[in-house]
Amino acid sequence: MRPLSDDLAAAEAFHGHLCSGMIIGVRMARLALGWLGIEDPASYRDLVVYVEMDRCAADAVSVVSGCTLGHRRLKWMDYGKMAATFLDLATRRAIRVAAVGEHSPASGVNLKEFWQGVSDDDLFRTESVSVPLSPFDLPGRPLRTARCDKCGEKVLDGREVERSGQVLCRACASGSYYVSQAGRKEENDGVGAV
Ligand SMILES: [Zn+2]
Ligand SMILES: [Zn+2]
Repeated sequence: MRPLSDDLAAAEAFHGHLCSGMIIGVRMARLALGWLGIEDPASYRDLVVYVEMDRCAADAVSVVSGCTLGHRRLKWMDYGKMAATFLDLATRRAIRVAAVGEHSPASGVNLKEFWQGVSDDDLFRTESVSVPLSPFDLPGRPLRTARCDKCGEKVLDGREVERSGQVLCRACASGSYYVSQAGRKEENDGVGAV
């Protein structure tokens, strides 16, 4: 495994700064790689990582583990927790690592030095877990492609849903995170707004 200083430098280069969250994310990933016995994550293709936060640490975990969203090897679970699970598809072994310590460096201290003084045992809770990964979530070609009966857009990877005989995308079935402005304009026009 490459030295900690190399991982910290790579994480900082990718993310743009080195904060406590980045250092924790780097160490989280290194701890898991060691536990799984993965020496060269850059060339290893069977690692899948679930990050439970969309903050600095997520980028650090991604850089150190070599797992990215686009390769389907980085899964984002929106738990708002400083934790991640590392799954080796080859062995099905998985470890969840959660940052549980109440350490907070005073402002102005050297962060690398501060965190060096906190051991993995003090910083993390680790647990061997199993992860029932669906075939639709695996890396590789999509197993299925569908088309939404309402909006007509293509839906990959079994994400379509059936509602009273119709095949729908999730947005059409249960509401989307975005609001169509075209629809709003029509509404406004309808009531004579400017
Ligand atoms: Zn940060
Ligand atoms: Zn749709």
